[in-house]
Amino acid sequence: MVKVDSLTSSNLSFYRTLNHFKRYGEFHSLEEFREYCDWANQQQVELYIVGNGSNTLFAAQSVNSLVLKNKLAKLIKPLPNSRLEVSSSVMITEVLKYCYENSLNSFYYLASVPATIGGALAMNAGRGRNYDVSIYDFIESVTFYSDGQIQTLTGAEIKKGYRETIFTGVHSRLILSAIFQFVPEQFSCDPILERREWAKSHQDNVGPNCGSVFKSACPPILKALQGLKIGKASYSAKTGNWILNRSSDSKGILMLIAIAKFLHLAVGKKALLELITVK
Ligand SMILES: Cc1cc2nc3c(=O)[nH]c(=O)nc-3n(C[C@H](O)[C@H](O)[C@H](O)COP(=O)(O)OP(=O)(O)OC[C@H]3O[C@@H](n4cnc5c(N)ncnc54)[C@H](O)[C@@H]3O)c2cc1C
Repeated sequence: MVKVDSLTSSNLSFYRTLNHFKRYGEFHSLEEFREYCDWANQQQVELYIVGNGSNTLFAAQSVNSLVLKNKLAKLIKPLPNSRLEVSSSVMITEVLKYCYENSLNSFYYLASVPATIGGALAMNAGRGRNYDVSIYDFIESVTFYSDGQIQTLTGAEIKKGYRETIFTGVHSRLILSAIFQFVPEQFSCDPILERREWAKSHQDNVGPNCGSVFKSACPPILKALQGLKIGKASYSAKTGNWILNRSSDSKGILMLIAIAKFLHLAVGKKALLELITVK
């Protein structure tokens, strides 16, 4: 029988807010996840799967949803023809390290992203609108659990948009694993280090953050907001579309987001959040 506990922690979101989770659990197998789903159904509470929390904003100090941390066993299994089977709990950086050591191409532009494979697949993680590349460029298939069944779909069969898939948000569809297809490549320098150097000069990691805040917004408005501070949360003065947070609660972040949305509305535009907000 799985255990649902309460937990007070600042480790489940990269904004490092201190939240009280009224209902928290960790699953180590699909069987445990199924039991949690049954429990959430019986109690009629929403269920949120957290990977590494690098795109997750807990919008309430006391969180009502059943928050489930992915603790499935880590698997990185080489398959014939430069293919790789990876479980959803594996970190992006672990896959990139494998690819580099085995002279394979990969999504090296995600070397600066502190994500699990499950989170990256759920978010259709990629390099930014101008580049039109994402982790799905390397996907042969994704295996997931949904509505009592295990299913496998090819990358093309999975419905997705910019930073959005059928797995994004608050739901009980669990990505279990994926098969990647890579191509041999020779490197003259380390693409992982290269990307991390790029991140140092272009991104702002001096305080807790979840990377880009909006997946769609008006650049001049975001530019005008740079440096705006509310309490201990602020829009980064260095990087656009980026909030740094040093507060234990999420109110400052939520107000900064509300201001951006209001300014968009005032000029007849819409700002769409990339962050997943959970209550
Ligand atoms: C410094 C920094 C840089 C970043 N740079 C980028 C970037 O370049 N490109 C980019 O796309 N993003 C970037 N991000 C955002 C973030 O890292 C990505 O969205 C990432 O994919 C989230 O992964 P995660 O494991 O932390 O997911 P979480 O934040 O834990 O979850 C995000 C979503 O995925 C779902 N999810 C997680 N695991 C599973 C699973 N196993 N099955 C089903 N659903 C699941 C969650 O329910 C939620 O809806 C950055 C973040 C930071 C902090």
